[in-house]
Amino acid sequence: MIHETPAGKGVVYPVVSRRSSGLSLGVNLFPQAKACNFDCPYCEVPPGISGPAFSLDALASELEAFFNKEYPSAWPSYSLKDICFSGNGEPTLSPYLFPALELCAQSRRSYPEIAGKSALVLITNATGFGAWANLQREKGFPSGPSWIQADRLCTRQ
Ligand code: SF4
Repeated sequence: MIHETPAGKGVVYPVVSRRSSGLSLGVNLFPQAKACNFDCPYCEVPPGISGPAFSLDALASELEAFFNKEYPSAWPSYSLKDICFSGNGEPTLSPYLFPALELCAQSRRSYPEIAGKSALVLITNATGFGAWANLQREKGFPSGPSWIQADRLCTRQ
């Protein structure tokens, strides 16, 4: 699922989000190309995305840069509402979803003044929702809402 992903940015991108009612830190698991099992006519992911492949090292590095540098300089008056998995496709298709969640949960613990009250949010078309729900339960991830795009549930392609 796309949503508010600036093209050409890395894997972490802060946005002031209407959905979150404040600052949201997006995580894009597909910077290299769109990856989705739907083909919604209103999809916001532009065709022909081309960027570096996702890596956990890049995510860790960008999280550190955001919390240590970017947030204090650019966003100090905002409270971080959530860390949100969305980006250029369906996050549950990524083999990196679960370790990426671990990294983000670790960031919440490492930067409690900034992220201690933030939720972990998944924007999904619900095709991998069972795995997500199981993981939340098993790992005890602090979770917020999961935003499901429901109008395509019966028309999987
Ligand atoms: S589910 Fe989201 S990413 Fe996939 S095609 Fe639809 S709008 Fe685009």
